[in-house]
Amino acid sequence: MRKPLIAGNWKMYKTSDQAVKLTAGIKAALKGFEGVDVVLCPPFTVLSTVYNIISDIDIQLGAQDLYWEKEGAFTGEISPIMLKDCGCEFVISGHSERRKYFSETNEIINKKVKAALDVGLKPICCVGETLEEREAGKTIDVIKTQLTGCLAGFEIGDALNLIIAYEPVWAIGTGKNATAAQAQEVHKFIRTWIAENFSQGVANSLRILYGGSVKPANIKELMNEEDVDGALVGGASLEASSFVEIVKNSI
Ligand code: PEP
Repeated sequence: MRKPLIAGNWKMYKTSDQAVKLTAGIKAALKGFEGVDVVLCPPFTVLSTVYNIISDIDIQLGAQDLYWEKEGAFTGEISPIMLKDCGCEFVISGHSERRKYFSETNEIINKKVKAALDVGLKPICCVGETLEEREAGKTIDVIKTQLTGCLAGFEIGDALNLIIAYEPVWAIGTGKNATAAQAQEVHKFIRTWIAENFSQGVANSLRILYGGSVKPANIKELMNEEDVDGALVGGASLEASSFVEIVKNSI
């Protein structure tokens, strides 16, 4: 039985005051609520602020990115150890916006996922096809290439702490979500690929999140699918009411 996981990706939104307000709203509304792992992924600048609010409740902290070195002369970068130091347990890697705007390749994402696992962070590794790729019938090939590149060289033990997010690029921030059937088809492929490349045990326990215009109104339908274990939520995680409704509607 895989415990559902709902993660909010705040992207480049929320100053300190705004982050405090949002986090306090989520905390108050989810007090006593059980059965779902909830992860907040705010910008680096407010990681500690958010952590201080959620540290006494069962809500976890995640970062949106990391650099793969432990420390050094890498101006502007944040190491996995620094994220742990701020209270992070999770980190997103390979989000399509990083692939698109910051030229992140599967090789770079592989290094980031590995660095996260090395310090005990749980990486949420994102994969997903563009609209052009979907329309050309290449979705499964693209996902396979991304999984092969991002997870190259990993052992079964690594895969046990991994989370995969299927995020079709055409559904992110567009208001146009994949149908439950479209999500299930890709999630099933991912689970089968994990079974073939790691083990059936790892595949059975690995959580695969769907991301792309998840809202309170569509989460139930997506979660009804056998291989959808949660969601990575962008826009709808920026308001406490919509994020909390997604969490509550996910079980
Ligand atoms: C995301 O940022 O990962 C995402 C899925 O965004 P949205 O929910 O806004 O589509």
